[in-house]
Amino acid sequence: MFDDIKKVFKGDIDVTDATRDTYSHDASLFEIRPQVVVFPRDSADVQALVSWVRDNKAKYPTLSITARAAGTCMSGGSINDSIIMDTTRYMNQIIDVKRIQRPYTIKPHFENSQAVTVVGEARVQPGCFYRDFEVETLKQDLLLPCFTASKSLNAVGGMVGNNSGGELTLRYGKTEDYVKELKIVLADGHEYTFGPITRRELYTKIAEATFEGQAYKQMFDLIKDHEALIKGSKPHVSKNSAGYMLWHVLTRGKTEDEDVFDLAQLIIGSQGTLGIVTEIVFALVEKQKKSKLLVVFLPDLNKVGEIANELLTTNPESIESYDDKTFKLALKFFTDFLKSKGLWGTITFTLSFIPEFWMLLTGGIPKMVLMTEYAGETEKEIDDKCRVGLQKIEHFGYKARITRSENEAEKYWDMRRDSFNLLRKHVKGLRTAPFIDDIIVRPEFLSAFLPKVNALIAQYPSLVYTIAGHAENGNFHIIPLVDPMDPRLPSIVIDLSRQVYDLVLSYHGSITAEHNDGIIRSPFLLQMYGSEVYELFKKTKEIFDPFVIFNPRKKVGATFENIEKYLVQPHTDVLHHS
Ligand SMILES: Cc1cc2nc3c(=O)[nH]c(=O)nc-3n(C[C@H](O)[C@H](O)[C@H](O)COP(=O)(O)OP(=O)(O)OC[C@H]3O[C@@H](n4cnc5c(N)ncnc54)[C@H](O)[C@@H]3O)c2cc1C
Repeated sequence: MFDDIKKVFKGDIDVTDATRDTYSHDASLFEIRPQVVVFPRDSADVQALVSWVRDNKAKYPTLSITARAAGTCMSGGSINDSIIMDTTRYMNQIIDVKRIQRPYTIKPHFENSQAVTVVGEARVQPGCFYRDFEVETLKQDLLLPCFTASKSLNAVGGMVGNNSGGELTLRYGKTEDYVKELKIVLADGHEYTFGPITRRELYTKIAEATFEGQAYKQMFDLIKDHEALIKGSKPHVSKNSAGYMLWHVLTRGKTEDEDVFDLAQLIIGSQGTLGIVTEIVFALVEKQKKSKLLVVFLPDLNKVGEIANELLTTNPESIESYDDKTFKLALKFFTDFLKSKGLWGTITFTLSFIPEFWMLLTGGIPKMVLMTEYAGETEKEIDDKCRVGLQKIEHFGYKARITRSENEAEKYWDMRRDSFNLLRKHVKGLRTAPFIDDIIVRPEFLSAFLPKVNALIAQYPSLVYTIAGHAENGNFHIIPLVDPMDPRLPSIVIDLSRQVYDLVLSYHGSITAEHNDGIIRSPFLLQMYGSEVYELFKKTKEIFDPFVIFNPRKKVGATFENIEKYLVQPHTDVLHHS
């Protein structure tokens, strides 16, 4: 069957066992073997393949296309059983990076966000690795501030697919705030450009007798007819990647003429279930020149929400955190951090760990470490900001320090960023299992919420886990280690997910702040949003993907049975691809 693809497709087509094995995984705990992996040369290839699948769907009903960038998705979003389309081999070009003549401000989507000044723009293909993209933007002191902790591994198409965020999201927002425009191949096999348009432009689009015109018409009707329901269903948290972002599509102005309708906002975070993105225009901000950390050592979790809220009022860039287990792992395996540091770096880095070793020896390991980053143009500006932060939290009576050197700050960042990798590499016979990896509740609930999460996980004494995350947003990454040979694994994954997500939803949170739904969380969307909103998600999928071409069984059509069915097999190592 796949020989036929060669007639329409210029890129590479690979049906070898080795390649299909590699593409059976992403960074999730699932495994699905595709039938073929294709590497499109350009948008014309993507269009040709989508048309081919549509034309052959009646003959081969299981045909589908799952777009893939770097395959670091933790939810199982970039694996499936038919055609995997990898854009990193050829569709990885940075077309343009520039400073713009007239900087402008944007307001990130979350509540009480502050205006951010956009000073640059970049046009890029989805398969471009973020690390390569950043090299180019930094040449002009420009930054895409929604980069992830996986920024050395992931590509920009995946950031759009998952609506990713990272350590600067507190101040700058997520990917949804930085996509100015995108090109996408829809189910009719044609490429279209989505971005913000006025009412008048919307009516012109709706009048067009094209697939795009129909999509605009039907989505406009769906959103306008259910506006109150959609607005009311937006989770009350600052970051959310669960479901389709229907609430971001129509922005009302003071008059109808000022309304903005933006279908790109629906595509961001849709995990390639509505079409395949072929080009993105990102807005870029000025890279801050200097930064420092205020590090607070919490002896328990009783005040974590209060302290994060107080620190929030001091306008930091980020408030990141990691727990006592991460702390101990980092000390145990701290030689891991030395590999890229050279001789002098090794000496200074090792010396910077003395206070931590002393804490370990004297039994004073903190339950959680909070790292608050302040940035600015001059040393004095950030010193002043750090001091204000320190004064703000003095009354809690916790141990705290302001970092004195870049080396010292790097130590804390290394511990925060590497907690997942440390677990993965060093605990033998066990495998990292992201399934409650990205929960979020409002920060004011954290002090009550976190001990309850810990208590739920404690019911399963065999689970080793670390908690690290974005304390300012109330977003925590909990990644347990599991024994893949344990026959109880499927029931642990499903039972613990249910209990943790019940708890998250009882605090009006979201099941995923940035890692998205994929195989692991799509079955929970009905519970999170209720049947009326879930119906709107189904309708959205039908409007864009009437032939079910794009990444089936993600977002809608997912089942709990599939979680069990696709759980990774004991012989494989997740992340071996990256
Ligand atoms: C160690 C580690 C740390 C992580 N830290 C973070 C973090 O801090 N923040 C965060 O948000 N995530 C994080 N992640 C998750 C993941 O790395 C991000 O979501 C990342 O942006 C995914 O990028 P990718 O290129 O690997 O995408 P992929 O895994 O290839 O794809 C992700 C999704 O996007 C879809 N997609 C890909 N390309 C396209 C396209 N062209 N058109 C339409 N859809 C497409 C895919 O179908 C899939 O559903 C982490 C993962 C790991 C392993």
